[in-house]
Amino acid sequence: MQVDLHLHTTASDGVLSPAELVELAARQGVRVMAITDHDSTEGLAEGFAAARRHAGLRLIPGVELNTEVPDGEIHILGYFLRYRAPAFQETLVSLRASRLARGRRMVEKLASQGVRISWERVLELSKGGAVGRPHVAQAMVEGGHVASVQEAFDRYIAFGGPAYVERARLSPTEAVGLVVSVGGIPALAHPHEGPGLAERLLPELVVAGLAGMEVYYKGYAPDVQAHLLGLCRRHGLLPLGGSDYHGLGRSDEVLPGAVDVPLAAAERLLLLAKERGADVEVP
Ligand code: AMP
Ligand code: ZN
Ligand code: FE
Ligand code: FE
Repeated sequence: MQVDLHLHTTASDGVLSPAELVELAARQGVRVMAITDHDSTEGLAEGFAAARRHAGLRLIPGVELNTEVPDGEIHILGYFLRYRAPAFQETLVSLRASRLARGRRMVEKLASQGVRISWERVLELSKGGAVGRPHVAQAMVEGGHVASVQEAFDRYIAFGGPAYVERARLSPTEAVGLVVSVGGIPALAHPHEGPGLAERLLPELVVAGLAGMEVYYKGYAPDVQAHLLGLCRRHGLLPLGGSDYHGLGRSDEVLPGAVDVPLAAAERLLLLAKERGADVEVP
């Protein structure tokens, strides 16, 4: 029984359509999965339609909200949220609009550094989904400016890099509040990033309603997982996780279901959602 609670589609910067992702996950033996696109729930309808063709596959509605603090990025996942709520969708629409403006400025900033890529190509690569830096990175690879998506980040567009551009974002606490406001379960994504960054933010996020944190994540060694499990116990958080699969073929990419997330993690998430009155049945 494979569990994967962190997956991207063409609704943001994933390469597979929601239906293709569900098919791949099913082939990989995934039984519980969540689609968690950046600032978008546009992939969920297609995802649910595809999941219905697989008896025994449960798809959890999710989202990943990218937020920023002065010394780094913090991503907040939301599960079982009433994502159709109009006010919630309005917020997502405005976050995606700021991604467009920021993507354009990043292309300009790159050009001023001699890296000429076409904004139209970035838009094409985004396939109508939330525009993200991975789309910019892919255009840079296609143009022969860098050898890989990872090199594009490392040399130009990683947080604080020479072509990095900020955009309007929620604070981590606001993102947690937004998920709570639509009855969802907020969780901290890939907390092992900046040194001590997540740990510092945890007390405030927990007060805001944070309920879970990724422990089982691609590349997290047993000692890292043990440390994060300890933090979960201390703060009363559900340990969650997933592959963060994008389909970009990055060297560190793992397939859906390839991170060993205990079935108990999904069961506890489901139980908490039920306790909170979330609609846990497939729509
Ligand atoms: P954006 O949503 O435009 O801010 O882009 C965020 C996405 O870019 C993340 O979800 C990752 O997939 C990717 N990303 C962010 N930072 C890095 C990095 N330093 N190296 C590789 N990929 C990154
Ligand atoms: Zn992404
Ligand atoms: Fe993330
Ligand atoms: Fe992600």
